[in-house]
Amino acid sequence: MTDADCIFCKIVAGDIPATKVLENDRVLAFRDLYPKAPTHVLVIPKDHYANVAELTAADPALAGEVLRAAAEVALNEGVAEDGWRLLANTGANGGQEVFHVHFHVFGGKPLGRMLSN
Ligand code: 5GP
Ligand code: ZN
Repeated sequence: MTDADCIFCKIVAGDIPATKVLENDRVLAFRDLYPKAPTHVLVIPKDHYANVAELTAADPALAGEVLRAAAEVALNEGVAEDGWRLLANTGANGGQEVFHVHFHVFGGKPLGRMLSN
């Protein structure tokens, strides 16, 4: 399942380069192009779903695989012990810019409060 206009589908297909840090049959993790923390990795299902609601409704097992991969990324990045943050922006108020569901893995420094204000 892909969306021809989706930038993350193009990364999955290899049409746009990305620095991959984890990959299996169904999940891909790659570094954010504009990192906002020392560790800033995006974890996505390879299949295209717009957001968490679509992913979990269609394939809850895949949602679990994505979360498991996020935890593995945190371990591999060396941030598991000190702590890290998992974030899925959703919709306009959530600040979502890419409409292929993705989880941000942030770590490597104290991340401060949950929201700026
Ligand atoms: P959102 O705001 O939708 O939660 O996050 C989208 C994220 O994708 C942003 O942090 C942005 O920096 C990242 N991003 C946008 N385009 C690209 C790209 O082509 N490659 C990579 N690696 N990250 C991207
Ligand atoms: Zn997509």
